[in-house]
Amino acid sequence: MNNAPVYFDYAATTPVDERVAQKLMQFLTRDGQYGNPASRSHLLGWLAEEAVEEARNELAELIGADNREIVWTSGATESNNLALKGVAENFEPDDCHLIISATEHKAVLDPAEYLRKQGYGVTVLSPDRDGVISASAVAESLQPNTRLVSIMAANNETGVLNPVAEIGALLADRDIWFHIDAAQAVGKIPVDVNAWQATMISISGHKFYAPKGVGALYVKRRSTLQLKAQIHGGGHERGMRSGTLATHQLVAIGEAARLAKTELTEEAERIGALRDRLWAGIADLGDVHINGGNAPRTPGHLNVAFGGVDGEALMMALRQLAVSTGSACTSASVEPSHVLKAMGLADSVAHGSLRFSLGRYTTAAEVDQAIDSIREAVPALRKQSSVAS
Ligand SMILES: *Cc1c(COP(=O)(O)O)cnc(C)c1O
Repeated sequence: MNNAPVYFDYAATTPVDERVAQKLMQFLTRDGQYGNPASRSHLLGWLAEEAVEEARNELAELIGADNREIVWTSGATESNNLALKGVAENFEPDDCHLIISATEHKAVLDPAEYLRKQGYGVTVLSPDRDGVISASAVAESLQPNTRLVSIMAANNETGVLNPVAEIGALLADRDIWFHIDAAQAVGKIPVDVNAWQATMISISGHKFYAPKGVGALYVKRRSTLQLKAQIHGGGHERGMRSGTLATHQLVAIGEAARLAKTELTEEAERIGALRDRLWAGIADLGDVHINGGNAPRTPGHLNVAFGGVDGEALMMALRQLAVSTGSACTSASVEPSHVLKAMGLADSVAHGSLRFSLGRYTTAAEVDQAIDSIREAVPALRKQSSVAS
């Protein structure tokens, strides 16, 4: 792995923690516990079920929930789909209004667009210049038939945190479901379902050192309506999500949650300090800004707009670093990120933006290497483009 780039893309995915992988491997082969957790007639089934329920407890504890409030899914994309469609399908389209934000992940934007095409009312809130959706913006867009508000906890591109507890307080007295996509928050910052007064929270394993393909939806008990299942089958997960439970995946996300619970505070402090070290090392390059820099953010995110530089060219120059650009490649062209655009950034600024995201295995030496590379590449690219123009 000597030629592997230095990893600054923890917001895209994380490596599985070795301790998590060790645990996962005990639930696969013949010398492990490979039983079906739904098999009620023999020991292998019971052992698998016990392991799954232990994992459920660990994840519930991490977010201050009851274990009966965790519905296992394949990841945050599925959780978001279940949340949005599962609520909306309780109503006729013309009697159901939803509120989301323009900075949501595609896994919220696309289900909302799907529902809009079915005739549901959808309001898409714009953030302020720092990417924040305020509780007052939500309050102002409420309608008599607003059934669901879906606002993310932490943005995946900028790390900007929304005031979800304030929004939760606003909606708690009304009969409105509040869904939070917390894929970038769980395991990174303290998450408390009661403080946030959420009715549903989406969780993704691979964003906090569990494998890809596993996640959960927190669904508050004693809610006023029943989520409509999107996957029908054997009635697993109290009818909300059928399918044989993936014991090894669930044991893994449970272990990742247990580790996060004990290590989160210290880890957030360490990663935040490294993130600040990275910014301190490049802040004097001139015409550089943190996107969302005035808002509270997760400790691991640093989204930087480099003035006078094309992000794709910079990423090429920084080949030895694994980072993300502020652009998305569609089949036809390179589009500026919808998040940065919603924040009011000009296309050229969005195109000149890079996301650095740090995590559990980031070291000071890696940060210093990144600083050196950026300090070399940015002035060189600026010189090139001034010669060309
Ligand atoms: C990664 C991510 C998702 C998608 O999660 P998967 O588990 O990969 O489906 C959804 N929302 C946000 C904010 C994310 O960061």
